[in-house]
Amino acid sequence: MRIPFIAGNWKMNTTATEAERLVLEMLEELDGIRGVEKILCPPFVSLVAISMMLHGSSIKLGAQNMYFVDKGAYTGEISPLMLRELCEFVILGHSERRWYFGETDEIVNKKVEAALANKLKPILCVGERLEENEAGKTEEVVNRQVTGALNDIEPVRDFVIAYEPVWAIGTGKAASGAQAAAAIQFIRDVVAKLWSKSIAQDLRILYGGSVTSANIAEFISCPEIDGALVGGASLKAEEFVSIVEQTTEIKGRKK
Ligand code: PEP
Repeated sequence: MRIPFIAGNWKMNTTATEAERLVLEMLEELDGIRGVEKILCPPFVSLVAISMMLHGSSIKLGAQNMYFVDKGAYTGEISPLMLRELCEFVILGHSERRWYFGETDEIVNKKVEAALANKLKPILCVGERLEENEAGKTEEVVNRQVTGALNDIEPVRDFVIAYEPVWAIGTGKAASGAQAAAAIQFIRDVVAKLWSKSIAQDLRILYGGSVTSANIAEFISCPEIDGALVGGASLKAEEFVSIVEQTTEIKGRKK
């Protein structure tokens, strides 16, 4: 049985003060919602303060990125060794990292390896760009990204994948539930071939891309989709709480 999973990716939003305020706005309600794993991924500079605020709650913390070396002369980078004291999860291979910062599948693969070696649980993001989608290359792209990221990685059950079509991120044009479910089923089949059927059945695979409280039900109603990686809507306490509430309600009904 896969526990539904909702993560909020705050991206490069919120100052340290704003981040603490946002956590305060949602903490109590979010903490009270059972049956869903809830993760907040604020900017690096807020991780220490928010890890203290979340201590003793049911809400978990994730980072948005990391470098793949534990320590050394890499000015400006954040290592898995630093993150493991604060976070349980780390987002890797987000499309904004791939397209704005040149992260290749090889780099993402090194990050996956380093995260797991440091007992951090990756939330691996994959997804095709608009032109790739229009050219019917979704499966080819996603297969390449998943296979690249998992190259030489020992099978592990505590691993989350987010299918995030680039054309749906921050655009207000979400994929349909059926589109997302098909891509996610495809990803599960890829993992089954690379690792095993049993592990693939256990992995949480999320949808991400313009998820809001108004459309979460469409995604979460699909048995293939185990949750969501939420960007913009995770910056509004009420929106995020509603997304998590609907998830527990809908997934709970299906048990
Ligand atoms: C994201 O940042 O992973 C994302 C899906 O963003 P948004 O929900 O804003 O499209």
